[in-house]
Amino acid sequence: MRIILLGPPGAGKGTQSARIVERFGIPQLSTGDMLRAAVAAGTPVGLEAKSIMESGGLVTDSVVVGIVADRIEEADARSGFILDGFPRTVDQAIALDRMLSDKGLSLTTVIEFVVDESALVGRIAKRAEETAARGEPVRKDDTPEVFKTRLDAYKMQTAPLSAYYGSLGTLETVDGMKPVDQVTEDLLKILEAHAETAAS
Ligand code: AMP
Repeated sequence: MRIILLGPPGAGKGTQSARIVERFGIPQLSTGDMLRAAVAAGTPVGLEAKSIMESGGLVTDSVVVGIVADRIEEADARSGFILDGFPRTVDQAIALDRMLSDKGLSLTTVIEFVVDESALVGRIAKRAEETAARGEPVRKDDTPEVFKTRLDAYKMQTAPLSAYYGSLGTLETVDGMKPVDQVTEDLLKILEAHAETAAS
C-alpha cells in the first residue's frame, strides 16, 4: 500500500502515520524527519536545508526528490509506505509519479486532512509545550512566527496538490478536526477498503 497524507503543518499527519505504521507494518517516510536527520548529521543535504527549514520555507525539489527516491529503494519500503510531508509541490508530485511508474508502481491513495486553519497555531504551540515537557528538544520551526511562514508555504505551494490528485481520482479526505482516535478510525476505514480491493 502506497499512501500519501496531505494536509497543513499541525494537521495530525505525523500522529496518524504512527498508527498506520502499527496497523499495516509499512514504514512512514517523513521528508521533514529525513531532512532534520541530515541537518543533525551535517551532511551536504543538511547544510543546504538547515537555514531554509529554520525560516519555514521549502527545501528545493531536487534535494527532496533525491532523498525520497533513495529511501523508497530500501527493503522495508518494498511492500509500501506512507509519505508524510512529501510531495509538497505539484512538481514533486509529478516527479513521484514518474519515480513510481518507472518501477511499475502507482499510488494506492492520497488522503487529505481537512482542518480549520485557526486551530493549527494552537496545536503547534501545544506540540512544542508537550515536547519540552518530555525533556526533548523543541523544533526550531514550531514557533508562531515560523509556523505562519510554513502555513503560507502550504497554501501557496502544497494546497494545489488536492486539485492535482482530485483530477487523477486518487484523493480522499478525512475530517482532521475530529478527536485523534476518531480520525484514526476514519483513516483505517479508507485504508482497509483499499487493502480488501487489492486482495480481491
Ligand atoms: P515537516 O516536518 O513536514 O513539517 O517539515 C519541516 C520542514 O522541512 C519544512 O518546513 C520544509 O522546510 C522541509 N520540508 C519537509 N518536506 C519537504 C518537502 N517535501 N519539500 C520541501 N521542503 C520540505
